[in-house]
Amino acid sequence: MSTVRDTYEAVIGLEVHAQLLTNTKQFCGCPTSFGAEPNTNVCPVCLGLPGALPVLNREAVSMAVRTALALGCAIRHRSVFARKNYFYPDLPKGYQISQFDQPFSERGALDIPLEGGGNKWVGITRVHLEEDAGKNLHGVAEVPGKSVIDLNRAGVPLMEIVGEPDLRGPTEAVAYLKRLRDVLVALEVNDGNLEEGSFRCDVNISVRKRGAAAFGTRVEIKNVNSFRHVHRAIEHETARLIAVAEAGETFRQHTRQWDDESGRTVFLREKEGSDDYRYFPEPDLPPLILEEAWVESLRSGLPELPEARRQRFMHDLKLPPYDTEVLTGHPKIGDFFEAVLQAKPGDAAWAKRAANFVMTEVLAEARVHGLEASFPAKPAQIVELLELVEAQTISGKQAKEVYAAIKNTDASPAAHVAEHGMAQVSDTASLEAVCRAEIEGNPKQAAAYRAGNAKMIGFFVGQVMKQTKGSANPSLVNDILKKLLA
Ligand code: ADP
Ligand code: ZN
Ligand code: MG
Repeated sequence: MSTVRDTYEAVIGLEVHAQLLTNTKQFCGCPTSFGAEPNTNVCPVCLGLPGALPVLNREAVSMAVRTALALGCAIRHRSVFARKNYFYPDLPKGYQISQFDQPFSERGALDIPLEGGGNKWVGITRVHLEEDAGKNLHGVAEVPGKSVIDLNRAGVPLMEIVGEPDLRGPTEAVAYLKRLRDVLVALEVNDGNLEEGSFRCDVNISVRKRGAAAFGTRVEIKNVNSFRHVHRAIEHETARLIAVAEAGETFRQHTRQWDDESGRTVFLREKEGSDDYRYFPEPDLPPLILEEAWVESLRSGLPELPEARRQRFMHDLKLPPYDTEVLTGHPKIGDFFEAVLQAKPGDAAWAKRAANFVMTEVLAEARVHGLEASFPAKPAQIVELLELVEAQTISGKQAKEVYAAIKNTDASPAAHVAEHGMAQVSDTASLEAVCRAEIEGNPKQAAAYRAGNAKMIGFFVGQVMKQTKGSANPSLVNDILKKLLA
């Protein structure tokens, strides 16, 4: 049954602010390190003291340009910094240095997977450079009842990535954010951490009747700090905007805030138009000139991007989409898997065996944080283990036992197998066939066992060991025989 809700569609465009992983700030030499004593990573430039002049951080430019190139953006070779003027206690200069009408890049796109299969290109309006503000803190233990300001973050390099209003629901929005985060992490320009605020997202959303050409009035939901919150906020806001439209009410574009506890958005402030910011070209910085040769050297130095790796895993290795998603979920996970693949390049059976083992065993205890990941074993250990399985020295089941014994150590799986006398045929199905044949071939002995001569089991074990040239696991053979003879 179709509902009123189904006659509307949500239109969503995301703005992402990503902190660049430079060592120093955007326009001064202060460290960007997180967790320093408040107001220690500051200098006259980032404090906005009179007469201090900004100098652009080349590393930040390089990171942002690489991002823009990875997103397929066109590069503007002469771009301009602008002052965005507003008053807020965490902004000591009284303006933010940003880019406005001449950003250094425009018109890119990002491919996202769709829920029911397939994919969709989402437009990237622009990528530009700007700087972060400080932090207002309320109710800090050292200064109870007061509001205080930490300016360590003021001037930290930010890159803003503005997306086109091409997204049509919460699932697409989250898929876009994840794909974007994957690209930034693969480029090692940002740690992709929503919870810690180094990857921040503003959600712009409006609703319209399905089939309508024009967009509705949008609201902007500020700083939604997890994928789950983004999903919930969009679901809630879509329903709210539809109710507003159905009631025939209109509203002005404004900014809202997501409150996860109550599960609703609340009005924050009227939306500033760009006129309110009195943008003008930054007089203390020359235009940013990006030379063609430098841009091209950055382009040729780009690593393999997550999408290319996914395509390779699916098409060259014939991995299913699920495995591909899991194994490309973080660049370091992909690297680990590829190190295991290196043992038998181009071998699809090996790839699937490796994928299964890495996904079920290794990733169960892998830890991913920002750009880093730690694993309970080394790729070489997994290679050795899977080679033992492939050679049928041990069974898949035994491989898990060996893995449990050697993980978090430097031990060699082969040495472990030798030491523990595990190099035996323990494949129940094949042993069962041998046992069955022996029972059928020796009906007198089987009858004797069944009549109560328990010792006769030894005869059968001996036969099976002879048949398998001593490679069978005797205790397993014993169990199988007892079951078959019962
Ligand atoms: P501002 O800084 O004023 O928010 P930007 O141009 O930086 O403006 O960002 C606008 C964002 O809002 C973009 O991500 C864009 O896709 C999105 N957007 C624009 N119009 C709509 C709309 N009608 N509905 C939903 N999103 C929209
Ligand atoms: Zn500084
Ligand atoms: Mg905005």
